[in-house]
Amino acid sequence: MSDLDLIIIGGGPAGMTAGLYAARANMRVVLFETKGTGGELNNTDLIEDWPGEESITGSELGEKMRKHAEKFGLHIEIKGVKRVWSEADRKVVELEDGTRHSAYAVIVAVGGEPIKLGVPGEQEYHGRGVSYCAVCDGAFFKDMDLAVVGGGDSAFQEGLFLTRFARKLYVVHRRNEFRAQSILRDRLLGMDKVQPVTPAVVRRIGGNAEVKWIEVEREGKPEKIAVAGVFVFIGFRPVGRYLFTEEHIDHDPNGYIITDQYMRASIPGVYAVGDTRAQLAKQITTAVGDATTAVLHAERYIEDLKHAEKAFPAVPKEEIPRVAERMEPVRVMAGQTIVREGSDSDSFYIVVRGRVGVYKRDADGSERELNRLGPGEFFGEIGLLTGAPRVATVRALEPSELLRLDKAAFGELVSVSSATRDQLDRVARERLTANSR
Ligand code: NAP
Repeated sequence: MSDLDLIIIGGGPAGMTAGLYAARANMRVVLFETKGTGGELNNTDLIEDWPGEESITGSELGEKMRKHAEKFGLHIEIKGVKRVWSEADRKVVELEDGTRHSAYAVIVAVGGEPIKLGVPGEQEYHGRGVSYCAVCDGAFFKDMDLAVVGGGDSAFQEGLFLTRFARKLYVVHRRNEFRAQSILRDRLLGMDKVQPVTPAVVRRIGGNAEVKWIEVEREGKPEKIAVAGVFVFIGFRPVGRYLFTEEHIDHDPNGYIITDQYMRASIPGVYAVGDTRAQLAKQITTAVGDATTAVLHAERYIEDLKHAEKAFPAVPKEEIPRVAERMEPVRVMAGQTIVREGSDSDSFYIVVRGRVGVYKRDADGSERELNRLGPGEFFGEIGLLTGAPRVATVRALEPSELLRLDKAAFGELVSVSSATRDQLDRVARERLTANSR
C-alpha cells in the first residue's frame, strides 16, 4: 500500500486541475481515473465558454489539461476506484484490482453518469440507436432522422453537434419551455432541419435490429416518430457519494455531495469538486475553481494534521483529522501581542513557524521574560485547563505562524484523550512552578 499526501479520484477538468495544483505544490499525489482522462469533455464537441479559447473541442481541451498537469509532475493511473474509507488519520482508497493506497486527504472529482429515460426499448437498443453521447456516436447517423430528448444545455449543445449529420432533428422535451441557455436555444431552434416536439414524453423506443421509431405522448395522445437514433440528455446522476460504503457522507436529496466553501465534505480529509458536489452550476469554469480551492485547503489541512500529531502524540490517530479541521491558522507580526495577561482564556496555540516570548508583569509593574517558544511548542493551556484568566502575556519575537484551537475544540480534545490531558496538566504545573520562582 503506497502512502501519499493526496489522492485525486477522477480525471475530468476538476480532477486534472486538482492534479496540476497538487503537483506544482510538490505534494505526493496520484490521480486515479477509470477510463481515459477528460471526463465530460470527451462527450462534448465544441466548448465556447472556456476563457481564452473562443472555440475548442472538448477532447482537445482535455488533452491540453492532461499534458499541462503531467508537465508539472502529476502521476495519472488509469485504474478504477472501488471505495474509500477512513482509517486512523488516513483515507484508504481501494481500487477495482484490489490494491489499496492511503493518503492524508482525498479529492473526489468523479462527476456522474447520464440519467436514463427508463422506457421500454431504451436498454435493449442501447448501442443500436440509443446513445448518451452525440460526439461519440453522431457520425454513425449521416443523413438520417434523429431525436434528441431533453431541454437543458446538454440536449441543445449535443443537438447542435448532431445537426452536422442529421437530415432532420426532433427535439423532444416534456415542457414547452426549454431550460437551455438562450444562445444555444436560438442557434438550434433557428435551423430548418430542427423540429421541436413539445410538450412530449417518450413512452417507448422500438425497431427491429436497430432503432426505427420512438413513441411519444403529446397532450394525452400517442404519436410515433420515425428516427434511426435517439440521443438522451435528461440530466445526470452524481456518483461520488457511492464511493463511501463504510461511512456516511452528507449529500443532498439528489445525491450531490454537500461541501463547505473550502470543498470539504462531512468526512474530515475528504473534498468533493466539480459535477459531483452540490452547487448552482455545472460548468468547466466552476469545476476548476472548486479544484483549486480544494487543493489549497487540503495542503493546509495536511500540514495542520502533521502539526497536531506532533503536538498531541497521545491523541488517538482517528481523532487527529477532526482536531486538524478545527485548527485555524494565525499569522502575527514581530512585536504583536497574541494573548494578554489577565484577559479571558479562550484559545490554545501551537507555534508552527517563528518564535514567541512569554512575559509576566511583576508587582512593581516591570515585565519579566519567562520563556521563549518555537516551532512545535504550544501555549494557552493553563487558562483553558484551570478556567482562570491568562497568567502571562505572549508576544511574537519575529513574524510567526500559529495554529489556534478554540475553547470548545480544546475541551473536546482533552476529553477524548486522558493521556493528552495528563500531558498538558503536567506542562501547565511545571510552567506555573517556574513562573512563581
Ligand atoms: P439539466 O440541465 O438538468 O436538464 C435536463 C433536461 O432534461 C431538462 O430539460 C429536464 O426537463 C429534462 N428531463 C429531466 N428528466 C426527464 C425525464 N425523466 N424525461 C424527460 N425529460 C426529462 O441537465 P443537462 O442538460 O444534462 O445539464 C446538466 C448541467 O450541466 C446543467 O447545470 C447545465 O447547465 C450544465 N451544462 C452546461 C453546458 C454549457 O454551459 N455549455 C453544457 C452542458 C451541460 P425540465 O426542464 O422539464 O426539468
